[in-house]
Amino acid sequence: MNNIYGFTREKLEEYFLSIGEKKFKALQVFEWLYEKKNHNVEEWSNLKKEIREKIMNDFSFERPKIIRMERDTLTRKYLFELKDNNHIEAVVMYHDYGISLCVSSQVGCNMGCRFCESGRLKKVRNLETFEMVSQILEIEEDIGDRISSVVIMGIGEPLDNYENVLAFIHIINDAKGLALGIRHITLSTSGLVPKIYDLMKENIQINLAVSLHAPNDTIRNQIMKVNQVYNISQLIQAIKDYIAHTNRRVTIEYVMLKGINDSEVCAIELAHVLKGMNIYVNLIPYNETNHINLYKSDAEMISAFCKKLKELGINVTIRKEFGSKISAACGQLRSKEVEK
Ligand code: SAH
Ligand code: SF4
Repeated sequence: MNNIYGFTREKLEEYFLSIGEKKFKALQVFEWLYEKKNHNVEEWSNLKKEIREKIMNDFSFERPKIIRMERDTLTRKYLFELKDNNHIEAVVMYHDYGISLCVSSQVGCNMGCRFCESGRLKKVRNLETFEMVSQILEIEEDIGDRISSVVIMGIGEPLDNYENVLAFIHIINDAKGLALGIRHITLSTSGLVPKIYDLMKENIQINLAVSLHAPNDTIRNQIMKVNQVYNISQLIQAIKDYIAHTNRRVTIEYVMLKGINDSEVCAIELAHVLKGMNIYVNLIPYNETNHINLYKSDAEMISAFCKKLKELGINVTIRKEFGSKISAACGQLRSKEVEK
């Protein structure tokens, strides 16, 4: 059955038209679901009884359940159980500027990046749109507060689940949906070049983050399989085209792996690759995980790398570490659950 939380307003309008109703009913439904947070259809007083019954017959309202939560001061990590007993996770982070939520887009991931726990477990399936929307709804309920920004950086490669992720973005951005400003939504990709072009053509002003993680193909091939399909020069060209078309600055993510990509030579090479682009680099301290023999760069190496990039005219910041004590790196909580 169709899940109501997977419907964009446009699709819901089509539904109402198809049953011979006015399309503004979709707006009323959105108000109940996302503004009043009332999913008890019987109480939807501005809709006639027969329409309410039809809605109850045609849609499921079920949402994935939170089965575990780990927390430290600024982070809460949630494990969800899906209907088919798969697990996904989402991480809440409290910043001085608001509360952000990192959502998953797939169960596992097929991109197989060497450093990543989600990739180690392989993709089981894509998440449905409602399963992404539900992560926000359940967590807002749990924390009793509003999420102010969403990053699609949890388990999965969002551009490998393109249609569902796009519908998700539309629903949460909809003024009558979760009303999250489009610039408060970030999508992170490992670099599926054709999909970056598709996204560009959507003409939406989301923030795009690209996981580059290496300054050349030799290193990137070692840590990211996707590079054997779309190499750095193809990826950089796509990012340049994306920036030219959208007029938006793109974030370049760079996870700092000890002895792999953290040398001064790497910094110089990276600066060269990114020269003149409207980007900023986010250096990510690697979150070590048990099963993978890769290690985080020493803090001094990270600072030196950052300093070098700055000297060479590249905008760069070091990502604040959140929740390393509570297995908050992408996929870690889920993999614990799978292994149990
Ligand atoms: N698949 C997408 C989005 C999910 S991963 C992507 O790869 O961009 C989100 C980010 O977390 C990526 O930049 C990824 O490289 C990084 N990441 C994965 N595992 C990590 C770990 N153990 N420590 C730090 N960052 C990690
Ligand atoms: Fe997938 Fe991203 Fe992990 Fe790579 S880093 S395996 S693309 S989730």
